[in-house]
Formats: sequence, structure tokens, C-alpha cells
Amino acid sequence: MAKIPYKTYLTEEEIPKQWYNIRADMKEKPDPMLNPATLQPIKLEELYPIFCKELCRQEMDNDTRYYDIPEEVLENYKMYRPSPLIRAYNLEQALDTPAKIYCKFEGNNTSGSHKLNAASAMAYYAKKQGLKSLTTETGAGQWGTALAMACAYFGLGLTVYMVKVSFQQKPFRKSVMETYGAKIIPSPSDTTEVGRAILAHDPNTGGSLGCAISEAIEVSLQDDSCRYTLGSVLNQVLLHQSIIGLESKTAMEKIGEYPDIVIGCTGGGSNLGGLMASFMQDKLTGRKNPRFLAVEPASCPSLTRGKYAYDFCDTGKTTPLAKMYTLGCEFIPSANHAGGLRYHGLSPILSKLYHDGYMEAIAVEQNKVFEAATLFARREQILPAPESAHAIYGALQEALKCKESGEAKTILFGLTGTGYFDMNAYAQYNEGKMTDYIPTDEDLQPGFDALPKVD
Ligand SMILES: *Cc1c(COP(=O)(O)O)cnc(C)c1O
Repeated sequence: MAKIPYKTYLTEEEIPKQWYNIRADMKEKPDPMLNPATLQPIKLEELYPIFCKELCRQEMDNDTRYYDIPEEVLENYKMYRPSPLIRAYNLEQALDTPAKIYCKFEGNNTSGSHKLNAASAMAYYAKKQGLKSLTTETGAGQWGTALAMACAYFGLGLTVYMVKVSFQQKPFRKSVMETYGAKIIPSPSDTTEVGRAILAHDPNTGGSLGCAISEAIEVSLQDDSCRYTLGSVLNQVLLHQSIIGLESKTAMEKIGEYPDIVIGCTGGGSNLGGLMASFMQDKLTGRKNPRFLAVEPASCPSLTRGKYAYDFCDTGKTTPLAKMYTLGCEFIPSANHAGGLRYHGLSPILSKLYHDGYMEAIAVEQNKVFEAATLFARREQILPAPESAHAIYGALQEALKCKESGEAKTILFGLTGTGYFDMNAYAQYNEGKMTDYIPTDEDLQPGFDALPKVD
């Protein structure tokens, strides 16, 4: 038999023309978002001031199985998709494992991550609704960069609240976003009420995604030609990211493969949710039975140590309540290098699937993550984003289990991005200065104590 190629690409024609909505096949749906004032399920219209209308519809839609990808978004996708499915032969060899390791590489665009898949959709719908600008937050900078690119493409203004520690650690992220026309403000800032309140409470805070979200929402609510966007966690984002898994599935079919296990890093859950969606469909409908593994940072362990509870999506407590695994919206993770994975909660869809036993999760410390990243970089020649390296770590563990058992399992993981903007973190690791911060139970308790009381 001919050797499976290093890279399997779809043709432009084969790029999926629909997104897949995993909720349509979930027998038990995620719990509805609640209005924090009334504790009643949110109504569609209540979301209209926050997100543009079509995205509100997608957010609330548990039933439509497939959504046509608009022609304009598909054209934008074609500029950087399809992304390659990579067979990691050299890594397999280095590990001396019988496992077959595949990864779907989403870092081949200037923003450097999968986030452009959702950014493009959101900018398109905002433009179509006649809006003039968007606001958002960004942690590590990937989402802000992706949205800046999408806003430039579709012709919209953009203001980005960037978590202050990232703003300081990654000055070039700001320059990239500005090049695409976005305005960048380090968060917390004195430009919003909620930012001023957080600063008054803790003037030296490095910020968090939760704070930046509150600021971005506050600003968008003051201007009716502006809406807010969020690059992860939300149902709409998982819908858009389903393109990753749909492409992967078709590419694997082309080479006669199907994964025994699908692995992804989890920040808010969008890349894993997108990568696994069409494989989870097979599991939910009884066609196949693959395993799913989420890998999160030990410093921000929402799945493995969080509570499954209703919580706000932001620190300023301005959003609807979502039922999810959470460390509490007041939890501010230490200034570590898990960059894009520093969020207190996790996608309600993934949370529900995890809660119902369809998924597994592990948490891993930073040094082990960078060890995995370094091995991968040397063997497979791609410099991974530290976030992606969590998934690499998960894949290594599974491949080593195969070595012990002698089973030739097929592993698929999401290689979500490149590490070019993370060289400070790599430098620290290379100099032996990286620390492994793991919060104690006492550190986590205040976040749990502050969870909203919903019964
Ligand atoms: C944002 C980001 C993540 C984590 O976000 P999810 O929503 O959990 O996917 C992972 N990898 C990269 C490269 C990112 O930019």
C-alpha cells in the first residue's frame, strides 16, 4: 500500500460548505442561558443589544443541524483554507510507538491560529446587518489579531481590550492588530466604568479575560452601530469552528483513516469543540465510538477542578449566566504562559458533554507542556503555540500508552497555532526559568464562594 502522505489537503472545492451544529444531535441539550436579574431563560431579543442578530439566532439554536456557510465567508476561508492534516511520522518514530499520530494544523494564516474561522463569520454577519464596528477582548492576542484581519477584510472598525499582562508580554501582537486597523487598549483600563472599578480594587492587577470582556461589552452597549464579539466559549463559535472537524473527517476518509481518540487543548473550548464535533456526532448517533480528551493548564483547571454551575461569562458580571464548568468568574489565573487558555469557564456544550461522560479531561503543568512543544518542534519542524502544546502533550501520553500495550491506535489532535509570538515563554523555558504554578484548593475556594446562587 502507498504510504500515507505527510500532509493531506482537501481541494478548494472539497472545503465544507456548511457548519455542523452539534447541539442538534445531543439528546440532552446544554442548560439554557439565564437572565441574571430574573433567573429566567434568556429570550432571543435580550441578546440583540450584545451580538448581531444572526449570531444571536445561532447562539440559541439547538435544533438546526447544518448551517450554510455564507458565500462571502467561504471566499474568505478559501484564502487560507483548507488547512493540512499532518501525519506526524517523525514524532511516532521518536516515541517508538505503534500509534498513528495525526494533527490538524490551523496555524497557517497570519493570525496564527484557528480563531480566524469564527472571526470571519462574525465580521461578515455584522457587516451584513449594517453595523460600523465591533469590540472584543483578547488574552494572548490571537483572537484580537484574527478579528482585526476579518474586520479589515469586511470593512469594519474594531476596538480590542487586551489583557494587560499579555499586552506587556507580547508588544508585537499590538503592532499586528494595529497594522490591520484595530485600536488596542490594555485591560483593565480607565476607559470604562467596570475597568475603573477593578483598578480601584486592585491597581496592580495584570487583568484577565473576564475583565476585558466586561470592558468590551460596556463600550459596545453605548453605540447602536457597534456590537460585541467573543472568540471562544459561545455556541456560535463552536458552530463556526466545526469546519476544523468536518475538514479533518473528509481528509481522513480520503486516506482510509478514522480516529480512535480526538485530543484538543481547552481554553474556552472552541478548537476542541470544532475539531471533535463531527466525530462526536458519530458517537452521539451510535455509528462509532471514539474517545475525546481535553487537555487544560494545571494553572487554570476549569474542567478537572471546576464546578458545573451557572456563572457569569465575565468578571464584571454583566453577561447572561451560562451553565458550565467554572472556577468562578472572580478567579484570576496567575500570569503564566498558557496564554489563550486562561479563562475561568468552558463552553456550555463541552461542559455538558463532559458532565454526561462523553469526554475525558486532564490538566498539565507548564514545564511538561514546553517539553512536549520542544520535542514536537524538533521532530515535526513546526513551532507550536504553547496552547497547542497542551494537546501535543495529550497525544504523547496516548502514544506512549500504545507503546506499552502494543496497540496501533489512531490519534488525532488539534495543532491550533504557531508559537512565533510566544518566544518570551520559550526563552524562559530554555533558560530553565519556567515555574509550574498550581492553585491550591484554598486558592480556588473564593472563586467558588462567589458563584451566583441559582436554584
Ligand atoms: C485561543 C487559542 C486556544 C484556546 O482557545 P479554545 O477556544 O479553547 O480553542 C488554543 N490554541 C490557540 C493557538 C489559541 O489561539
